[in-house]
Amino acid sequence: MLSRTVGLTLVNLHSKLYTSPMIEKIADIAHNCKHIVVLTGAGISAESGVPTFRGKEGLWGKFRPEELATMDAFMSNPEIVWEWYNWRRELMWKVQPNLGHDAITNLENLSDKFTLITQNVDGLHKLADTKNILELHGNIYRNKCVSCNTIIEETVEIQPDAIPSCQKCGGKIRPDVVWFGEMLDEQIIQKAFEDSEKSELFFSIGTSAVVHPAASLPVAAKERGAVLVEINMEATPITPIADYFIAGKSGEILPQIVALIKEKRSI
Ligand SMILES: [Zn+2]
Repeated sequence: MLSRTVGLTLVNLHSKLYTSPMIEKIADIAHNCKHIVVLTGAGISAESGVPTFRGKEGLWGKFRPEELATMDAFMSNPEIVWEWYNWRRELMWKVQPNLGHDAITNLENLSDKFTLITQNVDGLHKLADTKNILELHGNIYRNKCVSCNTIIEETVEIQPDAIPSCQKCGGKIRPDVVWFGEMLDEQIIQKAFEDSEKSELFFSIGTSAVVHPAASLPVAAKERGAVLVEINMEATPITPIADYFIAGKSGEILPQIVALIKEKRSI
């Protein structure tokens, strides 16, 4: 009995020392709610060191992503677009999920119902073993047919001078990411809105909240009564409507929330 009491005291002390009342409040809400939705953006990938691909030097320095990540660029020069994507894949391949990604997986495992919506194409959430993921902008490691949109799941290395063709229609294979000027997958965005509107707790993490429709998701959740938590390095257009805003890194803040929920579950 004595050791149990001592143990609990130590845990409580730990919480008091390392978490803020705001983080404790958020953990309390997460512990008591049925459906959590998390939206992530470039900020969480930046914590892993995913490059922005806005080149300053080298071969790709003279291009802007807006000039390469478009259907026009692919139709007029698929070789150079594939060379660029192969270079991006190679750089991203070296990057690992961080504590923020891991904490999101833990949060999913602790939740009755959980949806992760991400704007990132780097696949780091999958690598961190989060299961219920909606990838709004696609996945850089997946390919699809430029003509009939058939998905080719296998990650294959594409030789830019011999781009494979779709077995169904003969169209060229392209990366399965949303390019500038393209619409998001209708089913995915619809599901993202449905889940956001049903959520009781919505986390907006590492996103500048300026790119729509992703930026509308926290607003939709809040309008339907969800508690809105924003974790980002700086304030964004949705900060004024957030119930809780924490300036900082997801890799530092989310693990504290997860630890507190685990503590509550074990009581
Ligand atoms: Zn096809």
